[in-house]
Amino acid sequence: MLDTGKTLKKRLEEIELLIQFAVPEQEIGKAREFIERFKEDEFALNVIKDYYMTLPDAREETLLKIRVVEEKEQVFLLLLSTAIHHYFYLTNDEGGIFLGEWQEGICDKQVLKFFDYSSPESFGKIKKNIENCREYLPLERMDEDVCPSCGVKSSMLHTLGCPVEVCPWCGGQLNRCNCRFEQLEVEELNDETRLEELEEKLQKKGRIPYAREQRPTFMTEE
Ligand SMILES: [Zn+2]
Ligand SMILES: [Zn+2]
Repeated sequence: MLDTGKTLKKRLEEIELLIQFAVPEQEIGKAREFIERFKEDEFALNVIKDYYMTLPDAREETLLKIRVVEEKEQVFLLLLSTAIHHYFYLTNDEGGIFLGEWQEGICDKQVLKFFDYSSPESFGKIKKNIENCREYLPLERMDEDVCPSCGVKSSMLHTLGCPVEVCPWCGGQLNRCNCRFEQLEVEELNDETRLEELEEKLQKKGRIPYAREQRPTFMTEE
């Protein structure tokens, strides 16, 4: 988060360069218009950049829409659409991967299981129409009702380890204060069993779910 402005600018420059090779000249205007909508959205820009770098099936088509097919624990199954084709794209904050086209559905067992589908058929049944998938809106991941770090919605528990979670013992930042060491009577914390023990103690004490007041101010200031 340190240099958001700089990162965005760099990302936009990279995309600008890519589209000049990836998109037929008469469509560059349209490509730029789309990118303009997301110019402050780092998540979307990363997706757009990856699309133009990868150009699925080497088709030189302008990206016109990003839809959200599924989202869970900061993992997004997106649908990237041109005027003619629709590509599945699976991504978290670390990177993304193309999974084929809409009409083929999702066949990857791990992906299906992660999003709680029992089979490719059940996925196809639930996601019958592209119109069932909502459009990704610029900056939606900056939504105040969503934890900016782990992505849970208001009044839900953070993913354990999320830096936004408030410590129920001292009211500080749970992954920064000393309470976790004091509670476990250890100097450091690096093994699974101790983590489970901590989780239990946290649950007993009562974990503090996400609320918009917890949004760290540094995230909006920078
Ligand atoms: Zn969180
Ligand atoms: Zn504490």
